[in-house]
Amino acid sequence: SIVFLNGEYLPQDQAKISPMDRGFLFGDGIYEVIPTYGGNTVGFVAHIERMQAGLSAIGIELDYSFSDWQAVIDNLLAKNDLGNRAIYLHVSRGTDSKRAHAYPTGVTPTVFAFSFEIPPAPIADKTKAKPYNVVSSEDLRWKRCNIKSTSLLGNVMHFQQSHELGLQETILFNQALHLTEASSCNVFVVKDNIIATPALDNQLLPGVTRKLLLTILRQYSSFVVEERTISMDEVRAADELWLTSSSKEVAPIVTLDGTPVGKGEIGDVWLQAQALFSQFKYQY
Ligand code: PLP
Repeated sequence: SIVFLNGEYLPQDQAKISPMDRGFLFGDGIYEVIPTYGGNTVGFVAHIERMQAGLSAIGIELDYSFSDWQAVIDNLLAKNDLGNRAIYLHVSRGTDSKRAHAYPTGVTPTVFAFSFEIPPAPIADKTKAKPYNVVSSEDLRWKRCNIKSTSLLGNVMHFQQSHELGLQETILFNQALHLTEASSCNVFVVKDNIIATPALDNQLLPGVTRKLLLTILRQYSSFVVEERTISMDEVRAADELWLTSSSKEVAPIVTLDGTPVGKGEIGDVWLQAQALFSQFKYQY
């Protein structure tokens, strides 16, 4: 496939980065993954805003506007193909001559982007949706999980916990036994038709799907929607649990730690939430 590296479009096997790049040595970078269906992006503005916030949080100065990023996306789609593709954007602090922790001066950020085929968008149909079976764990990551850092070892290790059990995600609780998120998704809890998700802070990523779903539910449904602290007891007593992410949209969890969630079936509130998300996701 054709990828983007530092202003150039070239075949993937010709894209080269120095081993002295701080992205490689320190995981010193920020990334985004943006889904596109037939050339239409989902949550473009929110994804770029989050990337800019991440870059500014770690002191990387990059002079890319919204239209610069839009052009990278459009070109990657045109040079590969439309259909269903995710766009991966990655900015590292850049390549230095030495390995030293302090942010170097006079280094140009490395900008890399590529696209890859993804399945068609999820649809609101209980017979076609993939049911998720998940395990729980103490959240052992760092205290800056609101930054979409390319240092993903903590997330990778948590994901592996579920993978080795033949399951699809690991949902995480902090030491106070409050829900944070999952290794690569945000988490929603439904009880008595009230939809809740953890409030944003440094313990979780501000997911774009989370944000779009909250906006859509508040605008187009009559469900009560809450952003607040959620205890492990509430999670275990939930009628429905969902994962949200750019690739999964709203995904129903049917078992947690081997125990059925609610009736152990894909729920009715999920059906309505995914249907609304499918209908309105391109509006933002
Ligand atoms: N939480 C983590 C740790 C993630 O890596 C992701 C993204 O993949 C999400 C949540 C969901 O974010 P988004 O909806 O922006 O894809």
